Amino acid sequence: MKAWRVYDFNDMRLDDIQRPEAKPGWVILKVRVVQLSVTEAAVAGGETTGRSYERTKRILAQEAPVQLFGHEFCGEVFELGEDVEGLQVGDRVVAMPEIPCGSCPYCLLGEEERCVSTTIIGWTMPGALAEYVAVPASVVITVSDAVDDSEAACIQPLANCIPAVENGQIKLGDTVVVLGQGAMGIGCTQLARLSGAGKIIGVDIRPEAVEISSKLGADYAISARETDPIKVIRELTNGLGADVVFETAGGSPRAGLSGVKTVSQALEMVGKSGRVVQVGLLGDSLELVPSVLAGKSIRYIFPDLYTRETFQLAEHLVATKRVSLKPMITHKLKGLEKLPEALEITMNKARSKAISPAQIVVEE
Ligand SMILES: [Zn+2]
Repeated sequence: MKAWRVYDFNDMRLDDIQRPEAKPGWVILKVRVVQLSVTEAAVAGGETTGRSYERTKRILAQEAPVQLFGHEFCGEVFELGEDVEGLQVGDRVVAMPEIPCGSCPYCLLGEEERCVSTTIIGWTMPGALAEYVAVPASVVITVSDAVDDSEAACIQPLANCIPAVENGQIKLGDTVVVLGQGAMGIGCTQLARLSGAGKIIGVDIRPEAVEISSKLGADYAISARETDPIKVIRELTNGLGADVVFETAGGSPRAGLSGVKTVSQALEMVGKSGRVVQVGLLGDSLELVPSVLAGKSIRYIFPDLYTRETFQLAEHLVATKRVSLKPMITHKLKGLEKLPEALEITMNKARSKAISPAQIVVEE
């Protein structure tokens, strides 16, 4: 089969390799649509900070060439290993990216989402930048006909938004700010709407993101390039600040994200006893003044991890049209060989006016 392998940073090649075989309890999926997350794209493109970079460096030193990346995908069950129940050849599915070890103390307690020794699709086992991918049946979730392949490939990021919004503990009528209106930000915006937020203020610097934000649920979609969002939020809340702020804009500036500066903005625009939920993955260190947080009793929260239920809920919300993913899927490229182009788009979303990462349609 054809599969992308990583030889070094900035050196990926489309190789012909052996197709994986279905071990007992595992399934072979034919990849239909795959997209690289912004983090994966940044690392593939030579980003040199953060945990993902360190992990990749370690893996490359030991195993290159190696199949890396590709955990956001939609596949079709192609072959079932022995003892697989509840799945059939032809089922369209997505996979939870982390596979619990089954033997650590948390796994033995049945709290697999807290497993301390997971195997991760696209990092510590081959991902879906290939024609076929092997995964344990236990991490597979079937997708209904109401969700198309492209939407299914976006279920994983949406599933990550669900615990974030739950942790925000939005009460009916709360004022909610979402900094960053990329895929995660728009996901949080839509879920905040479903959670009963009163006023939702979406903030981004890109005109296309601001436009989608107002279409998909924000009452006020603000361009931080044209106005000072802190000032606007103060005005919209009678000077009190927001009840909940989701910070989704932070992350590698090389991938077009804000670094850590939107975290300070979030802490400034949240009101007393408010919550700031850190959704963006920050690879760089961050200066925090604890007395500022203490002075306003700010809860600065890192979201819980997703579970199988979260994934199923994400699928259900898309299938029942309560969350809309299609307007965010701006770029679809046909054929695995289009990876370099997809990387280019995902790394330069502003230039290409992309919202979600560029998708690669492997099989239609
Ligand atoms: Zn475990």
